[in-house]
Amino acid sequence: MPTPPKLTPEERAAALAKASIARKRRAEIKAEIKSGNLDIQGVYELSQSDDAVSKMRVAEMLESITGVGKIRALAMMDRLNISPTRRIKGLGTNQLKNLLSEFSPTSTKAKRGRLIVLSGPGGVGKSTVAAQLRATGDYWVSISVTTRLPRINEKDGVDYYFINNVEFEKRIRGSYFLEWAQFAGAKYGTPREGVEQALLDGHNVLLEIEIDGAKQVKSHMPEAMLVFLSPPSWEDLVSRLEGRGTDSPERRTERLALAQEEIAAAPSFDLVIVNTSVKEVVDQLVSLLSA
Ligand code: 5GP
Repeated sequence: MPTPPKLTPEERAAALAKASIARKRRAEIKAEIKSGNLDIQGVYELSQSDDAVSKMRVAEMLESITGVGKIRALAMMDRLNISPTRRIKGLGTNQLKNLLSEFSPTSTKAKRGRLIVLSGPGGVGKSTVAAQLRATGDYWVSISVTTRLPRINEKDGVDYYFINNVEFEKRIRGSYFLEWAQFAGAKYGTPREGVEQALLDGHNVLLEIEIDGAKQVKSHMPEAMLVFLSPPSWEDLVSRLEGRGTDSPERRTERLALAQEEIAAAPSFDLVIVNTSVKEVVDQLVSLLSA
């Protein structure tokens, strides 16, 4: 904690009086919000000219809205990437825009999209399913960031954003990822902002990621639906991985061992779909949106 400044008794009395006025002002504002006379836009506008309002915590403002409360306020701030201690004057333009959109009447606001997380053992066919879902136009499919090298047929910005380990670590520290995980010697992560924005814009979002990452998403966004894509049989998965010419033999052995662990995680998912045909899986995932 910083050392408090040395104040004369008069200065201390003046500071206390100022703090008390600011507290009263914030209480007034909170009461106005509670009664529905003041909305987020109104509070933000006031904060431009009123110092006490500008120093109010965003969490206090949200908690004052009828039906929000402490837990929902914190969860919302976490989802919108707003620090729990952020004050109104520190809100960024996008953060403010996202907050306003959370509370705008449903008639003018796009209905929030659904988040589906498709996971399952490596080699089961998740990326084929994801590519076909993207083509249906029903899903906005997130492009992940990875530290692994591109395979011969992969393009930066299309299949993945390929970056090095130092840059990946930097992004972890900057809270860039919604989730990230280490898989078969490389790091993979989902950029948070694109997903948030797509959901706010009303798009259904698909993440095609491994199991650890899927669990992280569920803990941040309990409304996410976790779908486990299962191979029709173990033999089927082995032959798919064996047939993958893009991996070295060591990498394939490593992936088989991992797949065994991954299959054991299926019961913790919301839904298990067996990949007997890509078309059937795609149809099921599309119909899930209207369920
Ligand atoms: P591959 O190297 O074969 O493209 O992917 C390896 C594994 O990483 C797959 O299971 C794939 O679903 C997963 N993966 C791809 N992107 C992400 C991501 O952003 N986060 C996590 N946790 N896993 C990912």
